[in-house]
Amino acid sequence: MSDIAAPITRRPERPGRATVATAAASVTRWACKLAGHAGQVLPGRVALRINPAYLAELSSNRTIALVSGTNGKTTTTAMLAAALRPHGPVASNASGANMLGGLATALLDSHAGRAALEVDEQYLPSAMREIRPAAVLLLNLSRDQLDRVGETRATAQRWRETVAGSDAAIIANADDPLVCWTAERHPRVTWVAAGRVWGPDGSICPWCIHPLDTAAGPGTASGGWRCGHCGATRPDPDWTITPTEPHGNASLRGPHHAALPLRPALPGAVNLGNAAMAIAAAATLNVPAPQALRAACEIDEVSGRYATAHDDGRTVWLLLAKNPAGWAATLDLIADRDDPVIISINAAQADGHDTSWLYDVPFEQLRARLVIATGARADDVGVRLGYADVPHRTVHAGIRQVLRELPTGTITLIGDYTSFRDARTALGARLTSVPATTPGAVEDTRDHAA
Ligand SMILES: [Zn+2]
Repeated sequence: MSDIAAPITRRPERPGRATVATAAASVTRWACKLAGHAGQVLPGRVALRINPAYLAELSSNRTIALVSGTNGKTTTTAMLAAALRPHGPVASNASGANMLGGLATALLDSHAGRAALEVDEQYLPSAMREIRPAAVLLLNLSRDQLDRVGETRATAQRWRETVAGSDAAIIANADDPLVCWTAERHPRVTWVAAGRVWGPDGSICPWCIHPLDTAAGPGTASGGWRCGHCGATRPDPDWTITPTEPHGNASLRGPHHAALPLRPALPGAVNLGNAAMAIAAAATLNVPAPQALRAACEIDEVSGRYATAHDDGRTVWLLLAKNPAGWAATLDLIADRDDPVIISINAAQADGHDTSWLYDVPFEQLRARLVIATGARADDVGVRLGYADVPHRTVHAGIRQVLRELPTGTITLIGDYTSFRDARTALGARLTSVPATTPGAVEDTRDHAA
């Protein structure tokens, strides 16, 4: 579109090296395909090794939005890309390869003039320096695996320093106090009341380290907050969702239009917030809000998440949860169901080896459900469930055998990244809508509880 934010033009540096980098990336892509790999990271990584300025060169003359946060990156990026797409092609790292090599590969693979890219929260500062995006979406910040991500406050400090010096439009979640702290020194912030499903990391005032008063506490989607000590308070949001219940008739109100019905195809309160962030960002990039909303709400699958598999009379709903905030959102999503729950944690390298975060997940909510703990770290899950007084069995077996431990009917499986990926492959999951639970499934399976 012609009136979209003006791209930043740079003088290309060292064209010789750029040519070599492009050629090396092409060869790497070809080699990846030959070896049966998707090649979503390596081509970009090789090119950056040859030409460290390559990401900046690939970004010049493009309008790019970066999406970062602990949770919701992939979904919000997919929604934003969909919202931008009616106005022409959009480059995106839809597979979730969100470090610098993945970003470079996504831009190498497409000549689109616009891009929506998710960025690992640790890499956001370097990505912003290289890419000089037109817009940056700051979703949330909360704890993740400590060995992989480190302390939340340290990440927030790096965001704060980078955001203050950026000329991008910032679209930030006003309900997350830590996000507000990272963005407060930027002159052009669009605030979105996008909700907060897990509160502990946002319960302390980032300015004065005193406890915050929250208008609606952790566990709800509404995240009003105020510090009684220093007076810091939630910024007045430009975009609000009313009401915040996912099954109600939610609507989205923005600065320049009346409330619009907000009904994302993806389930849960968390996806109302993801959609609101994507729509606000698209509007910042001059896409009319009703049009952006329509496109964002049509997204019904993201990298195979919310997939359903059928196996020998069992319907398995596969969900991905990687950290306390993701788990809180997922447990909220399944709160109305009564089917058995399989919890699979591998804590492999891609997941982060640290499992201490299991103790920050409110597993107590599963006390009335039949639960099986499995995965390479099944014993860790079992100990945690024991402390939460959740009746469960611990099963060391492949996913198909685990399913045999349960009667036919509907089953929910929640796994970390590698568990989810492996289960999806093993079961040949297809993308379908949320399966209805089978009445009586819990009663039928009580014998299996420990
Ligand atoms: Zn304070």
